[in-house]
Amino acid sequence: MLVDGFGRVHDYLRIGLTDRCNYQCLYCLPEPEFHQGCSSHSGDRMSAEEIVAIASQFVSLGVNKIRLTGGEPLIRKDAGDIMLALGRLPVKLTLTTNGSRIDHFIDIMHEAGVKSVNVSLDSLRKENFHRLTLRDDFEKVKSNIDLLIAQGFEVKVNMVVMNGYNDHEVVDFAKWSQTQPVHIRYIEFMPFPGNRWRPEKLISLQQILEMIEGDSGKLEKLDDGPHDTTRKYRIPGGKGTLAVISTMSAPFCDGCNRLRLTADGKMRNCLFSKTETDLLGPYRNGTDIVPLIRQCLQGKHRQLGGNSGPEWGLHETEEQRRTMMGIGG
Ligand code: SAM
Repeated sequence: MLVDGFGRVHDYLRIGLTDRCNYQCLYCLPEPEFHQGCSSHSGDRMSAEEIVAIASQFVSLGVNKIRLTGGEPLIRKDAGDIMLALGRLPVKLTLTTNGSRIDHFIDIMHEAGVKSVNVSLDSLRKENFHRLTLRDDFEKVKSNIDLLIAQGFEVKVNMVVMNGYNDHEVVDFAKWSQTQPVHIRYIEFMPFPGNRWRPEKLISLQQILEMIEGDSGKLEKLDDGPHDTTRKYRIPGGKGTLAVISTMSAPFCDGCNRLRLTADGKMRNCLFSKTETDLLGPYRNGTDIVPLIRQCLQGKHRQLGGNSGPEWGLHETEEQRRTMMGIGG
């Protein structure tokens, strides 16, 4: 079992398959000065076999859920092989994707035993989708979401809510969940190197709930699981659900069970961690990585990677050079 210094059991591993992406979402794509630091060369990147071997070590230590992320996991040519191999492990396998390539992978996802997919979609309007991603893919992503629903996958839609960019669409997303079995996850805008985070761009859990309840009336509160990063709700009678990932206004670190592995094989004990532990180098040298995994976990802070205070997002330090894509969000 993997237990940190605060007694939290860690059984969920998020693996970045690549630090590259085919979209340029403005809350994620770093300023040009960060591009150099966020694109690994393929030799630095874990191969499919290395991902499966390192993930298997985590599974032997109690991990029972694996999420593939990135960068965009489905732009990796061997993403299908990786899914199939990880799907043979005793884990719940899932992924977070921008949705652009789901139609190419949907058969493999079935075969690998994937049941639930998180798709990032920040606007339901074509023009605004382009403004946020710099791509004209709204119809493609929307039809891929429809395809997932039609084929019986659980679909969670991640919407990063930003003041002045898409907050006027919060209610539209909520209404979508009334008529379709989509689970909307509003995400508070988080600070990462180069993403121009400002407190005034943040729309909080409270504001999101007020917007929806102002339109649709009182929401029904649903039960939250012990490790949920969200507070869950439903518009009464709705087919889908609503949830808010309130990292900034109400962090949920007490129930954290997450570990991260970057595309270049570094283990991180928190999204906001200032340190990481190389597993790939030692693995390639034939070193036992289990003690390294345990040591990394012991260094985990109680909350937000040791960051604190409302203004912490404004102060980037040299230690925080990894972007969201480089960490594997
Ligand atoms: N490419 C995939 C995708 O688009 O879903 C996976 C990687 S992406 C970094 C993972 C999730 O992080 C997405 O849902 C994205 O919206 C979210 N994200 C990225 N930057 C963020 C930020 N600054 N604050 C909050 N969420 C963010």
